[in-house]
Amino acid sequence: MGHDGGMAKIIVVGGGAAGLVAAWRAASLGHAVQLLEANGRLGVKLRISGGGKCNITHDGPPKALLSAFSKAQARFLRPSLHAFDNAAVLDLLRREGVETYTRDNGRVFPLDRPGSAGAVVAAFETLAHRVGVDVRTGARVTALQGRAPRLEGLLLNGEPLHCDVYVLATGGASYPETGTRGEVLGWLKGLGVPVLPWFPALAPIPLQRPRPSWEGVSLREGDLRLQAGPEGRRLETFAGDIVFTKAGISGPAALELSQATERARREGAAWLTYASIRELPEAVDAALQAEQRTNPRLLAATWIQRHLPERLVEPLLQEAGIDRGLMLKDLSRSARKALVALATALPLGEPQAVPLARGEVAAGGVDLGAVDPRTMALRGWDNLRICGELLDIDGPVGGYNLQAAFSTGYAAGTL
Ligand SMILES: Cc1cc2nc3c(=O)[nH]c(=O)nc-3n(C[C@H](O)[C@H](O)[C@H](O)COP(=O)(O)OP(=O)(O)OC[C@H]3O[C@@H](n4cnc5c(N)ncnc54)[C@H](O)[C@@H]3O)c2cc1C
Repeated sequence: MGHDGGMAKIIVVGGGAAGLVAAWRAASLGHAVQLLEANGRLGVKLRISGGGKCNITHDGPPKALLSAFSKAQARFLRPSLHAFDNAAVLDLLRREGVETYTRDNGRVFPLDRPGSAGAVVAAFETLAHRVGVDVRTGARVTALQGRAPRLEGLLLNGEPLHCDVYVLATGGASYPETGTRGEVLGWLKGLGVPVLPWFPALAPIPLQRPRPSWEGVSLREGDLRLQAGPEGRRLETFAGDIVFTKAGISGPAALELSQATERARREGAAWLTYASIRELPEAVDAALQAEQRTNPRLLAATWIQRHLPERLVEPLLQEAGIDRGLMLKDLSRSARKALVALATALPLGEPQAVPLARGEVAAGGVDLGAVDPRTMALRGWDNLRICGELLDIDGPVGGYNLQAAFSTGYAAGTL
């Protein structure tokens, strides 16, 4: 294999973002590569990514991309991202005919065409075929055999398969219908590999008291706040929009706060509010009192409608016991405080369990401390490499997770 310059037989398990790149890279270096994918076709999760448009990566220098991840994850990703960064990914795709554009928020997509995510998968498939990767679809591996420091084989349809180096790229555990059931993490744990259990991330948050009649309504340009219980301390804040769903909330801020919300919930106390106005309640209260003086005949309903969507005004005023026809001049002190609270901390309340299956990514995975960040080789093992979401990596929405899969896949295939 790599050390003596000879050709090795490599098996890559998982034909998603990381596995496709790892297989292409290893074969382009002259190795004999077999790619095993459980689904009938490659890149199923890639095809549904970014709402079917595929947010391939994020714009900016490697340093900026790394800063989107946690400190430990950024430290781990640094060498592989530098070796195969966003520009390298886009360059590779461009040479296969996939033109891209960057949105104002830095997210990079293929040019809008029907099936644009499919074009990204097709490009990686073409690259892999060109360098002779032997692709097997409908090939779900059911067991790993061996023990440290050597993996002896894999079981496929009850038959053992053997090779020189095994690259595991089986992804996370969300959207199991895309082939990612997360079982490989359990097998690795059984082999003594340090792992962190799968944990929900970037998922919609179901609420104990959902508002199904508000489904589709958004709260915009404010802060979603997580606190330890209704009166508890503030734990985390995410600036961004949310949208009500049948079961709770979704939208950018909900996805980004979902992991912290689930942690707080499991620790015993989680409570969510949305601040449509980010200022302190005292400041908003002072502004409302000033408005009472300058604009006494303004309806309370009109004031709150400046800050909340029209569809919510009626039901919220009713809950707060404020008459729709009430003018600012007739607001009691307690009604005024209630209005201010709706704008500065609309209670969404207690969350229910955040579903692992609905996350855009799964947190948890193989402990990064157990993996060499330059080669993705599992420490203490001679012939085993891990890449992609199977690692304990979970970036925010914005193309970061695919970039992490591409970069770690490239490193794993460099041998
Ligand atoms: C709805 C949705 C939208 C997303 N949108 C974006 C986006 O726009 N931008 C972004 O950066 N990220 C996005 N992500 C996240 C991103 O898709 C993943 O992080 C990324 O695909 C991980 O790459 P991977 O190669 O590690 O795993 P995957 O792409 O999931 O590939 C793993 C493959 O391994 C196969 N496999 C699993 N077990 C076995 C087995 N035992 N034997 C054989 N094969 C097996 C699976 O079938 C699967 O095809 C999105 C995720 C979801 C769910």
